[in-house]
Amino acid sequence: MNIINIADWGLNMGKRPYIISGPCSAETENQVIQTALELAKQPICMLRAGIWKPRTRPNAFEGVGEPGLPWLKLAGRTTGLPVCVEVASPEHVELALKYGIDTLWIGARSTANPFTVQAIADALRGVDIPVFIKNPVNPDLQLWLGAIERLYNAGIHKIAAIHRGFSVYGQHKYRNFPQWEIPIELRRLLPNIEILCDPSHIGGKRESLQEIAQFALNLDFDGLMIESHINPDAAWSDMAQQITPEKLGQILLELTKPEASTSDPIFLNKLENLRRNIDLLDFQVLDLLAKRMDLVKEIGAFKKENNITILQIERWAEIFKSRMALSNSLKIDSTFIEALINAIHQESIRQQTKIMNEKMTGLKKK
Ligand code: PEP
Ligand code: MN
Repeated sequence: MNIINIADWGLNMGKRPYIISGPCSAETENQVIQTALELAKQPICMLRAGIWKPRTRPNAFEGVGEPGLPWLKLAGRTTGLPVCVEVASPEHVELALKYGIDTLWIGARSTANPFTVQAIADALRGVDIPVFIKNPVNPDLQLWLGAIERLYNAGIHKIAAIHRGFSVYGQHKYRNFPQWEIPIELRRLLPNIEILCDPSHIGGKRESLQEIAQFALNLDFDGLMIESHINPDAAWSDMAQQITPEKLGQILLELTKPEASTSDPIFLNKLENLRRNIDLLDFQVLDLLAKRMDLVKEIGAFKKENNITILQIERWAEIFKSRMALSNSLKIDSTFIEALINAIHQESIRQQTKIMNEKMTGLKKK
């Protein structure tokens, strides 16, 4: 895929990290313009505002709709910043284009629905407009990729992705789980796609923004989309996560942006050496895992011969307990070891199940 980078969108957006900000929802003309004027004092490169809001339950504020588009356009003209709205249907696309909106974004609920994405893509055929594609609400990389492909196949090549986290049931530290491995995998599969992080919808609250934004920059994300409001406590949607433009400025000032690379030979040399050591250890770890799997298979055949069940719950309980104790004394994170031991155990069960299901030819039936 020949995706066009943000720097080449012809929107004069400056340098990465690209910062997009603006209210969750456009509420009134005054709110949009005042927020934009304050934002223009901060180092941001694009204004956002939701015009049609995908609300989980009915009877919540569902956006001002078409009347909000000229407010946003005026805010863009007044500040000299390009503007962005969410589109969730061909009608939204038609209206956004009618009012000369500069860029569009596809929201998480829409990305989850291939019919919706295809309808938006079809409505954009022949139009040259950049589109940001948020991850789907569910942690499904294929859906995210599929949405990017649908837009690309419709001729939209100015594409960037936005990571806004994944839905989770119940109360947690963050409103949506970041699952950073998913945008990282997207980067591996589509090396030239730029990815912005949306700390507002990941965190769901003001206090989390700094931490999530810094995490994203440490992972070399290309930019941030952060919700801001002239009076956040009175916001009609996503109140808890919106901040004033001034607060946004403070957050941005405190962020540090590590360099993605360097040509310093001393650094490169030392890094290279450390990486060789990692490579060596990884080979040893994998070699040991392969040996462990061989033993698992041998035990599987032995259990089958003797007509014994695969799962021996006392043995599993003992493995789990002793490995967790070991991780404790080795000072390795126990959540990580728990996930690792569970993964190894599941794979062992899968291998032994395969052996159990093989035909009994050559083996003595009991
Ligand atoms: C938004 O950006 O206001 C929004 C609705 O986001 P998401 O689609 O990520 O929930
Ligand atoms: Mn929002």
